[in-house]
Amino acid sequence: MALSFLNLWKPAFSSLLSLFLPRYCISCGALSENDGWLCETCEKLLKSEKAGYSPEIIDADCNLREERYFDSGIALFPFHGVARSFIHALKYDGFTKSGTNIVFRARHDIEKFAKDREIDGIIAVPLHKIKHLNRGFNQAEVLAESIADITNWTVLKRVVIRSVNTKSQSHLSAEERQENVAEAFTLFSGAIVRNKRFVLVDDVFTTGATINSMARVLKRNGADRVFVLTATKAVK
Ligand SMILES: [Zn+2]
Repeated sequence: MALSFLNLWKPAFSSLLSLFLPRYCISCGALSENDGWLCETCEKLLKSEKAGYSPEIIDADCNLREERYFDSGIALFPFHGVARSFIHALKYDGFTKSGTNIVFRARHDIEKFAKDREIDGIIAVPLHKIKHLNRGFNQAEVLAESIADITNWTVLKRVVIRSVNTKSQSHLSAEERQENVAEAFTLFSGAIVRNKRFVLVDDVFTTGATINSMARVLKRNGADRVFVLTATKAVK
């Protein structure tokens, strides 16, 4: 419990620290002279990682091994190099502003995706309550709030719950991941999703098994459209 209490304060503590410490590049650790997030070299590197990468990759190269329940989606950056550093700083070091920063760097892609799309709400992929308590925050929620700041979509919190505390997926094969999350989500008691349109948000799209499992719950309960917007997509 003591650890959980400390973790609750971790994001706030990290933000406080960043006010007083010199700014180091979040990716390579060099002293940063720019906006305090990236050194000049990594700034250029991120641009080159993004050049030639299509956020519509989720539609083109989805890799799902099962029926797809979401309609379409985008992933803002390849999960690689500098973009991966942003996600790691958010997820493992509790730098919530790192999540906001990576989202704002893809503002143009988000605005393009949101244009003329009627959306009833944006939903972060939930963590199981035990994992949420241990980490102190949900990284997908940080990203969802940042996306909502750009699109004016409403962040909905009580729609889907993660009812099964699934094991870590990092060392699982695509088939194992699918099995691992198959029944992980349930609809929040009393949530109304019929005929509604949602955008699901997560930090990384790997095999898509997790977000597809969540989309399935929404579609089976009558949701009209389910879109996916992730900060990154795992690349081969
Ligand atoms: Zn750097």
